[in-house]
Amino acid sequence: MNTPGFHHFTMFSGHAAATVRFYRDVLGLRMVKTTVNFDDPGTWHLYFADRVGTPGTSLTFFPWEGTAPARRGHGSIDALTLRVPPGSLPAWAARLQTSGIPAEPADRFGEPILSTTDPDGLQIELIEAKALPGVQPWGGNGVAADHAITGVHSVTALLWRSGASLPLLTQVMGLQEVAREGRRIRLAFDPDQAEAGYYDLVEAGSGTPRHQQGAGAVHHIAFRAPGDEHQEAWRSRLGEAGFHPTPVIDRQYFHSIYFRERGGILFEIATDQPGFTIDEAEPDLGTSLVLPPQHEPLRARIEAALPPLEMKAEPAAGNREAGADVSALDSHKHLWVRGDLGDHPALLALHGTGGSESDLLPLAARMAPGWAVLSPRGNVSENGMARFFRRHAEGVFDIEDLHRRTGELAEFLAAATNTYPLDRGLVALGYSNGANIAASLLLSDGDVLRGAVLLRPMLPFQPGELPDLAGVPVLILAGEHDSMIPGESTLALEQQLRDAGAEVEIHWLPTGHGLTDKDLQLATDWLARRRFRSEEVASAPAAAHA
Ligand code: ZN
Repeated sequence: MNTPGFHHFTMFSGHAAATVRFYRDVLGLRMVKTTVNFDDPGTWHLYFADRVGTPGTSLTFFPWEGTAPARRGHGSIDALTLRVPPGSLPAWAARLQTSGIPAEPADRFGEPILSTTDPDGLQIELIEAKALPGVQPWGGNGVAADHAITGVHSVTALLWRSGASLPLLTQVMGLQEVAREGRRIRLAFDPDQAEAGYYDLVEAGSGTPRHQQGAGAVHHIAFRAPGDEHQEAWRSRLGEAGFHPTPVIDRQYFHSIYFRERGGILFEIATDQPGFTIDEAEPDLGTSLVLPPQHEPLRARIEAALPPLEMKAEPAAGNREAGADVSALDSHKHLWVRGDLGDHPALLALHGTGGSESDLLPLAARMAPGWAVLSPRGNVSENGMARFFRRHAEGVFDIEDLHRRTGELAEFLAAATNTYPLDRGLVALGYSNGANIAASLLLSDGDVLRGAVLLRPMLPFQPGELPDLAGVPVLILAGEHDSMIPGESTLALEQQLRDAGAEVEIHWLPTGHGLTDKDLQLATDWLARRRFRSEEVASAPAAAHA
């Protein structure tokens, strides 16, 4: 008796809306079920999968708003590798780059993978592979159906020693070793059928800490049992092998037993039936909050307690203060994400060419946890791709348009200051074209921004008279191999900012135009280190324009 493959994967995350933004809007998965943690109905349980939640495709999340991040370490599932159709990896690399999400190519058993992280730091990898059998790809949210993710290909279990975990996997569960590479041992569900998937074990080096649960942690992984009788057989067999499985628990969409493997990872065996259409028809999956019968009487209270799933622009027009310049605020389509209203500024997210007001939100949530985010969309369309100002050619800017658009954005920010709680000012987070408009804002007026993170910027224009940027902190992250940004132009920007009095920190990373984990780490550390405490506020920035 072998287990035929994976069933689902359950994670903790830090913010429901950021989780939705990444898995639904960036990875393009279908949110097939919107429900609550049955044991704690004040928290969400969100399921992302293919069209119907075919076993082997479901990633499920318990978002705990603001929970501390997990500590990566041994005794955990450290990475999930998702299947994308053969030939689609370059398109995925481009999509992640446009979204400002760090991703890096790597190699696994001679095959290319693309490695990225979700908003909580969980490692998510993409690999070109045949779809899991029976998968119904979900095209949506800008992902073409022929590029859609088609299930989990493999997982990486990080263990102190693999020897403790292997007997269960191979002798009891029937997986077979098929390859080794460095510290990685690959087990196959079915060596003759690559589509069945793999369980990889990696021995952590000495000095690797033990994993701690938190946001971005895999809580457990579930394997398939085709039916209840198979599950009952598994239960006896695991009991005989000394693994103390739980009784069968009804999880509404499947029946489950749980046990812990000897490396410390929580395993579940879940049945294929009854599936996600038991309480919603296929076209309606995930579109409304579904509660199990025992929680239905509390629906109103539960709905009121659940955090928002969407990063929505707020407030509505009726909440605007009298006198706010409504037309200037409407000059840019934008999103406003309310932060925890702590003692820090808001982030002004400025996307790159071809991006939108939602693209940088996951990155912003990672770099500046808890900060409010104001994210406008660029008003210029270049072959349908949004930008913040026109250009004549790659790197050759339309200076007249640049100045006009910079002024337009400054007026938008002044109007936003009268509408949203921006009294602690704005720190720009710009990528590529967004970094260039941020640099243009800085070089045009010393009062608009309190600081800036400029990812892959260049000098947008040669300033005549420099503004006073005394003490304004600016972080520049540049790619040594960036084919789109001339290095000397980035250096010229650095010089102009320094001459204006800005406190510039610049790092040259051994990479190209796309962002990497190193960008994320440097920007996160810098934003935390600079602190931007309220006493640093000289005056309410941007208000000068009102
Ligand atoms: Zn589960």
